[in-house]
Amino acid sequence: MAALFDSHTHSVYSHDCDTPLQENLAAAAKQGLLGLCTTDHCEVNCFDAVWLQRLQSGRQQLAALRPQWAGQLVLTQGIELAYPQADPVLARQIIAAAPYDFVLGSMHGSPAKKGMFDPATGPRRFAQILRTYFGELLQVVQLDCFDVLAHLTYPLRYASPQTAAALDLLAFDRQIDEIFAVLIKNGRGLELNVSGLYQSYGKPFPTVGYLRRFYQLGGRIVTLGSDAHHSADIGRQLAAGAQLLRQAGFTAYCYFRGRRPVFLDL
Ligand SMILES: [Zn+2]
Ligand SMILES: [Zn+2]
Repeated sequence: MAALFDSHTHSVYSHDCDTPLQENLAAAAKQGLLGLCTTDHCEVNCFDAVWLQRLQSGRQQLAALRPQWAGQLVLTQGIELAYPQADPVLARQIIAAAPYDFVLGSMHGSPAKKGMFDPATGPRRFAQILRTYFGELLQVVQLDCFDVLAHLTYPLRYASPQTAAALDLLAFDRQIDEIFAVLIKNGRGLELNVSGLYQSYGKPFPTVGYLRRFYQLGGRIVTLGSDAHHSADIGRQLAAGAQLLRQAGFTAYCYFRGRRPVFLDL
């Protein structure tokens, strides 16, 4: 079985998480993971000093805990940088402010995607939201200030089962191919975010067809992430994710150290 490294985890240093970092590290060791990367949130569109303070506290806490886990866990320091196109100069300043091992690029909510978080949103509006989202994601990848693109199909987490069932996802293939082309040209990677496998959505972000497409287009840099916001979810479903990557054609995946990929056999 492949050694499992969780490249997407949150702790108390994220605005939407209250799990102490030490609990995540203990959970990773208990799961027998090779290691984990801390990727606490930073949303560029609503940035203020509190974000930087939280991230700095997270780095200090990881440094303090590191000796205790030496020889047991590979621990790397990352950040999940969302909505960088809201202020590209600031986004680059945030990343340059600390020696991060890994930068995840992502998009969450935005004013143009009104209704995304509302379970009553029907398929017609949701399709518009997805079109807008993939347009925003293309802006993220074109900015090229990150290592790996997080949770490609993220909005689907919020569609009601009825809405999800009525969506024609093939309609977005052209936009997604464009995103993949830019990622691959820039030497950046794609995340397989398995959080959907342990949440009500029941599928990963993205599903295996998209992973296969990324591989066919020449993508070789992929990471695995639980996107855990609770220590019980650290490493959860990563083994299933590794299996999906193999199905898609990959023979290796990676984690990042010093902004460079370290490949692990699948
Ligand atoms: Zn995210
Ligand atoms: Zn996340």
